[in-house]
Amino acid sequence: MKKSAAELKADLKAHVDFLAEAGAGFVLRSAGAPPQTPAERKALEEIDRQVLVCQLCPLHRLRTKAVPGEGDRSAELMFIGEAPGRDEDAQGRPFVGRAGQLLRKIIAAMSFREDEVYITNIVKCRPPDNRVPLREEEEACSSYLVRQIELMRPRVIVTLGKTPTDYFAPGRESMTARRGRWGDYRGIPVMPTFHPSYLIRNEGNRELKRMVWEDMQKVMTLLGRK
Ligand code: URA
Ligand code: SF4
Repeated sequence: MKKSAAELKADLKAHVDFLAEAGAGFVLRSAGAPPQTPAERKALEEIDRQVLVCQLCPLHRLRTKAVPGEGDRSAELMFIGEAPGRDEDAQGRPFVGRAGQLLRKIIAAMSFREDEVYITNIVKCRPPDNRVPLREEEEACSSYLVRQIELMRPRVIVTLGKTPTDYFAPGRESMTARRGRWGDYRGIPVMPTFHPSYLIRNEGNRELKRMVWEDMQKVMTLLGRK
């Protein structure tokens, strides 16, 4: 059944209230800090459950599976993409298509195991034809991600491409100017870099790959992996 705008708005308000109630606030994490408390772990599992049945924006009507994210919920390093694509929607897992394979190669090259980092998206359901998420969709969905970040407390966030970068390290310049320069999201260092699909679309451009690798080396240095 289609919900009216007023009903959707009421749902969204209840949802934001729920998230605010569940949360105690924002704590920065230092190296070697303890992982989540049992209550925080439960809250993270609850977010995943909510995402799977969420109807806060119209994207729920088109999805096969919502994609909350995957990896270590106490990871020091979080990768944030835009939204699920076709393969992600089919499997309910982030970054499993072609771009995902490239991202997972980059993660391995950084000498991280996939299950040592956390991979997710700013929007958890697939937009039709992989279009860029609308502002309303991003607004409805980002509260889940913000809460995931609060609870997971990553030490570094990597934003992949313009959509998550605009949210977590906003700026007026192009991605070419913004990538590789540290941003800050509520005290957490944010490293913007190119989206792996952009690398795939420009396969012959080795300079782009070099730049992404340079950005990831900064992340590795900050995390003491280099
Ligand atoms: N592109 C994204 O931004 N996210 C995914 O999960 C897959 C492709
Ligand atoms: Fe809910 Fe986000 Fe999916 Fe919209 S995209 S239905 S807000 S989980």
